[in-house]
Amino acid sequence: MNSSVNLVGLSEEELGAFVEQMGQPAYRARQIFDALHHRRLQSFAEMTDLPKDLRERLPETATAATLTVESRYVSEDGTRRFLMKTHDNLPVETVFIPEERRDTICFSSQSGCPLQCTFCLTAQLGLLRSLTAGEIVEQIIIVLNDTYGVGAKPPRGTNLVGMGAGEPFLNFDSLMKALRIMAAPHGLFIVPHRVTVSTAGIVPRIRELAAISDRPNLAISLAAPTNEMRDELMPINRKWPLEKLLEACAEFEQTLKPGERFTFEYVMLAGVNDSDEHARQLANLLNRHNLHAKVNLIPHNPADPLPYQPSAADRVERFKAILESKGVHAFIRRPRGRDIFAACGQLAARREMNTLANRP
Ligand code: SF4
Repeated sequence: MNSSVNLVGLSEEELGAFVEQMGQPAYRARQIFDALHHRRLQSFAEMTDLPKDLRERLPETATAATLTVESRYVSEDGTRRFLMKTHDNLPVETVFIPEERRDTICFSSQSGCPLQCTFCLTAQLGLLRSLTAGEIVEQIIIVLNDTYGVGAKPPRGTNLVGMGAGEPFLNFDSLMKALRIMAAPHGLFIVPHRVTVSTAGIVPRIRELAAISDRPNLAISLAAPTNEMRDELMPINRKWPLEKLLEACAEFEQTLKPGERFTFEYVMLAGVNDSDEHARQLANLLNRHNLHAKVNLIPHNPADPLPYQPSAADRVERFKAILESKGVHAFIRRPRGRDIFAACGQLAARREMNTLANRP
């Protein structure tokens, strides 16, 4: 167990208290914050604007990096997938997705996940633990440094999506803290409107997010047009059924400001939730709640031992056409990095399951 303080993910105020304890002047907090987040340095030795004796003393009580990259896979389409581990040996996965206009990083908010969505490999791990704000920020630092070079500015800016392992709204405080640090003036220059957080439907947190002015974009994973089906696919629905969820969504939609995005995600599972009737039920459901958010149709990434296959391309097109005929905007998301198991949740689960399977 690492008892050092992880300085990544501390606010400037918290760093202020830390440097004061070390008998250092207050301006060191800004220098260290800038070195860690803006210049993305992952060792104190590289922080040559700090006095040498401080650089040597810092590692005695603190650390500038806690995650280690275990494996890195590069897909044929340029998607990069990182399997990292925490100081206490838990898997964390992060994916870099190059895009035409702006690159995207998909990060994890938890190691494993306590929710039991039946189409998700991460669910099979259960919750290992929630990540700290520092561990969330560090995933982004590692991926940016690996992709562009240490401290180099991403040429086209970066979008973040919280769609990796875990339910972000069950780690709300750490998530929001990580986003504040990334958006801070000497932080990573990634502001909340460049971030989209996807939830399985933790209703109280949707309401809490609605009250925050500087907030990330919201995506809701729906996966089913009826409670009966959603109870099966996403058991969290038994706690917050569709009516409650969509009521909170409609309230959230009322608070949207220009430029903010709010979307529904619908994973397409062959023969399960992808019929013409399901499309009509989904459109009617959204229209009944007076929701105008667009629906992203997501191709399922098949993986053992999940019992689902992706819907055929023409089925997805037909589903989209039905939604649109009923006034619901729908888009089909292109699958990325399939050859490296780039569906969020798949890699850590694979490694963890292999590890478990190989235990005597
Ligand atoms: S889909 Fe998301 S919320 Fe559901 S089990 Fe997987 S990681 Fe958790």
